[in-house]
Amino acid sequence: MTTTEHVHAESDPAVPVTVMGLGLMGHALAEAFVTAGHPTTVWNRSAGKGAGLADRGARPAGSASEAATAGSLVVVCVTDNDAVRELVRPLAGELRGHALVNLTSGSSGEARDLAAWAAEHEIAYLDGAIMAAPGGIGSGDAAILYAGDKGAFDEHGRTLRKLAAPTFLGDDPGLAALHDVAVLAVMWNILNAFLHGAALLQAAGVPATALTPVLEGGIATTTGWLAGYAEQIDAGAFPGDDATIATHLAAMTHLVDESTAHGIDPALPLQIKALAERAAAEGLGQSGYAALISQFRR
Ligand code: NAP
Repeated sequence: MTTTEHVHAESDPAVPVTVMGLGLMGHALAEAFVTAGHPTTVWNRSAGKGAGLADRGARPAGSASEAATAGSLVVVCVTDNDAVRELVRPLAGELRGHALVNLTSGSSGEARDLAAWAAEHEIAYLDGAIMAAPGGIGSGDAAILYAGDKGAFDEHGRTLRKLAAPTFLGDDPGLAALHDVAVLAVMWNILNAFLHGAALLQAAGVPATALTPVLEGGIATTTGWLAGYAEQIDAGAFPGDDATIATHLAAMTHLVDESTAHGIDPALPLQIKALAERAAAEGLGQSGYAALISQFRR
């Protein structure tokens, strides 16, 4: 299943929840549950991190085992999936029949492995990717992507909405992690392009603050192309009816030349140009930009 589904119903405040891992993100998740009125059990490996939450009504568990038993919905948010495995494997008995929601960042392979382990032990597993900083949790502005056990999402989506707007991506448990890195890749590419542009303009005495409004317009225009390009990628047809790869390639040369002339590292522009050159050499010069997808598949 690949459709995206949103949960609209109101939360049931009676659902007892557990949050394991009270670092920056886990603390924010627990706080959102407490604020929403859920009976919230909290646990952290090292002592002391649940004190503020206890003052607000959360119940600190004396052990991981006690924490796992307490919530019918158990959220885990720790450093990485090695830590998740170390934490949950000894708790298979306590978690049996519960929903385990792993909001720890990791790879799609790790998510699938954890889902397989959970299935063996009759634990309903949802893997989640948080699209927010801790300050956004519970604010109404954040989003969390989920994949895995659809039944658990249907049962607990209303409760998970108290953390952030939940979106279910499908029953392949790796999908949330894959979407996470896809979003991060776009973010890093935009940020690196911004920094490159700022360095280029700064060399001509233009402050970065003057570049920002121009870039925001450019990013909005580019964003508007994505839906159409996505349709072309899915259809495998790339009409060059807006601008061809050959036209883009000529402008890429200007970016490389300007960077070199102003002492700005041309590595990123050279990589951008190399992709288009390879595509043109393969006969795609008259195709639209999205035909460059072929260069990412190798
Ligand atoms: P953090 O502040 O460094 O907290 C890490 C937590 O993991 C601590 O509670 C730590 O416990 C616990 N932990 C580490 N190893 C453990 C183990 N072996 N067993 C049990 N607990 C263990 O990190 P964070 O910012 O909360 O991030 C947690 C997860 O959320 C990460 O996967 C991160 O990528 C993801 N995330 C974070 C953000 C963000 O903006 N912070 C955004 C999206 C996603 P101790 O206190 O005992 O060390």
